Amino acid sequence: MKFHSLRNPAISVSLKEATLKGLAPDGSLYMPDKLQPLPKAFFNNIGDMSITDIAYIVANILIGTDIEASKLKRIVEETFTYDIPLRRIDSNIWALELFHGPTGAFKDTGARFLARLVSHFSESAPINVLVATSGDSGGAVAAGFHRVKGVNVIVLYPQGVLSTMQRQQFCNLSGNITAVEVNGTFDQCQALVKQALIDTSLTESKHFTSANSINVMRLIPQMFYYFHAYSRLIRQNAGKHTDIVMSVPCGNLGNLAAGLLAKQMGLPISRFIASTNSNDTLVRYLATADYLPKPLQRTIARAMDVADPSNMARILSLYNSDINALQRDLVALKFTDRQIADCILDTFCAASYLTDPHSATALLGLRSTLTEHQQGIFLCTAHPAKFAETVAPIIGHPVQTPSWLMPSNNVIEHPVHYRISANYPAFKRILQNQTA
Ligand SMILES: *Cc1c(COP(=O)(O)O)cnc(C)c1O
Repeated sequence: MKFHSLRNPAISVSLKEATLKGLAPDGSLYMPDKLQPLPKAFFNNIGDMSITDIAYIVANILIGTDIEASKLKRIVEETFTYDIPLRRIDSNIWALELFHGPTGAFKDTGARFLARLVSHFSESAPINVLVATSGDSGGAVAAGFHRVKGVNVIVLYPQGVLSTMQRQQFCNLSGNITAVEVNGTFDQCQALVKQALIDTSLTESKHFTSANSINVMRLIPQMFYYFHAYSRLIRQNAGKHTDIVMSVPCGNLGNLAAGLLAKQMGLPISRFIASTNSNDTLVRYLATADYLPKPLQRTIARAMDVADPSNMARILSLYNSDINALQRDLVALKFTDRQIADCILDTFCAASYLTDPHSATALLGLRSTLTEHQQGIFLCTAHPAKFAETVAPIIGHPVQTPSWLMPSNNVIEHPVHYRISANYPAFKRILQNQTA
């Protein structure tokens, strides 16, 4: 599989280079060359396959020429050490629980796969992994890379946005993890990462990559669970010959881009719903064909507070900027904090099912569009306990944290921790000191 730069398709690189560089030299994102549809036989048998079988078959078709089969198999098995259940919560509404990984968020899948791929390709040279987080990436990436030899992780996060558990998931780790609190927004954190990756005064002497969804190899593994979701619907006898809709809670649009890529490979679903909070750049784009980010708004679905999503460029490229074609596959809807909170409470009372604010946003996307002949799957991107500070007052009940998700306080060491304003020279000084 080859990858090309979105701005300049003549820049074509291998899997190894796309993984280790993170960003193309022209500052734009890498995109896989056109994906081939999966064979029909795959979909005929998919209901009987395990998640690792499905992931391995898809991964092998995508990148099997670049990495030995046994190694790829091991990476897939080490990524999915947890299950991804599909739970029915209403007659035709299903929750895809992507939050059973070590940090309780769907980002574990992409981060764990990427971490193993980076350590496979980086061989002996040390590599510095930069990640901007609006909440869940930081923990997932830090957990994925913690104590991996030859890898240094620098996590940037906006001040005042993360929940306590989210901060602890990476601030409590030391060794190869450095935390940088930025007095600014997530978009500014992401801009600092992009600037560092194309700063040749840094990249000439040291290796840098990104573990955000700007790194295409964090996005590719997210395709696997869309096929898995379809397989579980088939297995529960609800999928065959029906009209399936999947609703994705959207921020930086990495998860949605992965779903659209899966559709290009033949995922047999009718359409996606992109469910957003008040940061509705995508919703307005689909309605007007104008891409006009507005200033960021703080919402209760904080991990989706992104005004200028990086993966928009990938989605436009996938559809050759043909907005009509995109509108056939995608409906985008926005929801207010009030609607999200009401959905959490209603679902808790009516279905005894507790959702976090992000998953509730996706559920709203189904509730407001699904017809009785359709089957709807919404992606649950975080465990509700990760957002207990928001969820508990809404339902008027404490939220239990399962033991596997408890931050292990006994490993608090003394992590290196910086605070900076959102300016590049300050960030660069940290990189000069803290990287290998
Ligand atoms: C990151 C995140 C999202 C948004 O996903 P994108 O791929 O950035 O669109 C949604 N929900 C949760 C819980 C997240 O952590």
